[in-house]
Amino acid sequence: MSHDDALRSAIESRRDALIALTQSLVRIPTLNPPGRHYHDICVALRDYLEPLGFDCRMIRAEGAPADSDKYPRWNLVARRDGSRPGECVHFNGHHDVVEVGHGWTTDPFGAELKDGRIYGRGTCDMKGGIAASVIAAEAFIATCPDYAGAIEISATADEESGGFGGVAYLAEKGFFAPERVQHVIIPEPLHKDRICLGHRGVWWAEIETKGRIAHGSMPFLGDSAIRHMGAVLHEIEEVLYPILATKRTEMPVIPEGARQSTLNINSVHGGEPEQEEDYTGLPAPCVADRCRIVLDRRFLIEEDLAEVKSEVTRLLERVKAARPTFDYEIRDLFEVIPSMTDKDAPVVRSVARAIETVLEREAGYVVSPGTYDQKHIDRIGKLKNCIAYGPGVLDLAHQPDEWIGVDDMLDSARVMALTLAELLLDK
Ligand SMILES: [Zn+2]
Repeated sequence: MSHDDALRSAIESRRDALIALTQSLVRIPTLNPPGRHYHDICVALRDYLEPLGFDCRMIRAEGAPADSDKYPRWNLVARRDGSRPGECVHFNGHHDVVEVGHGWTTDPFGAELKDGRIYGRGTCDMKGGIAASVIAAEAFIATCPDYAGAIEISATADEESGGFGGVAYLAEKGFFAPERVQHVIIPEPLHKDRICLGHRGVWWAEIETKGRIAHGSMPFLGDSAIRHMGAVLHEIEEVLYPILATKRTEMPVIPEGARQSTLNINSVHGGEPEQEEDYTGLPAPCVADRCRIVLDRRFLIEEDLAEVKSEVTRLLERVKAARPTFDYEIRDLFEVIPSMTDKDAPVVRSVARAIETVLEREAGYVVSPGTYDQKHIDRIGKLKNCIAYGPGVLDLAHQPDEWIGVDDMLDSARVMALTLAELLLDK
């Protein structure tokens, strides 16, 4: 029997175990924010992995943003060494999920199995992916116990809020150091036949325009920060958006609309603060003395972050030149450099071959419009041989009635197991 056949039956015989593991993970409501039940989910995975021979370490990201005694940021790193030296393949999944939101027709933490799908918050993003990687490793170990190198599985905190209490913390502690880990697969829901090579860059900034307060009946005695911001927004609309639309990328970003530079204005706040919901009076007549917007600029591998920033400061300076009393401040909030793994990287080639074998079609290559934990593995861990590959439909992430297909999980578990065979067995 070939490895492929043996792994296929080892995985198919674990269908019930895969369903049960996924359900048990989904039933732990690891909501972030604030970061609930992180310890519980790490324990659940540890209890599954330890009997398989994994050496499990529970790591709290002490001092990381959002870590507190009430909501500690727990992570699990499990490692199983083979019988001789070799490379290490690491599967990393985030265990946190986003809020439930409205519109569910199933229990968001019930993990109901219906028509071959498991429903619940975090099924596709990404507890189904974590479970698939665990079953892949289990089937591989049972089929090929004499492997070289090591298998690692980590379940990490806070991906949905930047990953600082999760992968960033572990990367800073050396867990992704190239001498320790050589290949990283992040089973985010990018679909079982696609390899995600990386993501676009991000720059968030807050712009504040200044004004002077005065009575609203005599606005000429004040200076409206809102009108100044209006001029900024006009310039963004008329000048910046058309420029961004011309900046196209060679990165295979999905969906197609994100294959260019994009900008979202996350918020606008100007004038007097919003009153409590139960306030029934009228607003006070004042000229706004300040107005703020938050920009979310997504940039391309062909762009330079310094130039992305100066494009906006030049715009503000143009507005300033045209408006005598215009004054502003700009503040960086968050930035991530784009990341894109080479298509010829070893982990990409191995997963692509496994997809061809298992699904009998060529692998697709995509890049994510938004960032994920690859940024920390790349920038802090200095490990370039990293991709996202996992079951599920990306569009379902963060939606009501999120689900994962059991057959999709089984197929991608086969791809992952075959990848382990290629990277950890003698060729
Ligand atoms: Zn995710």
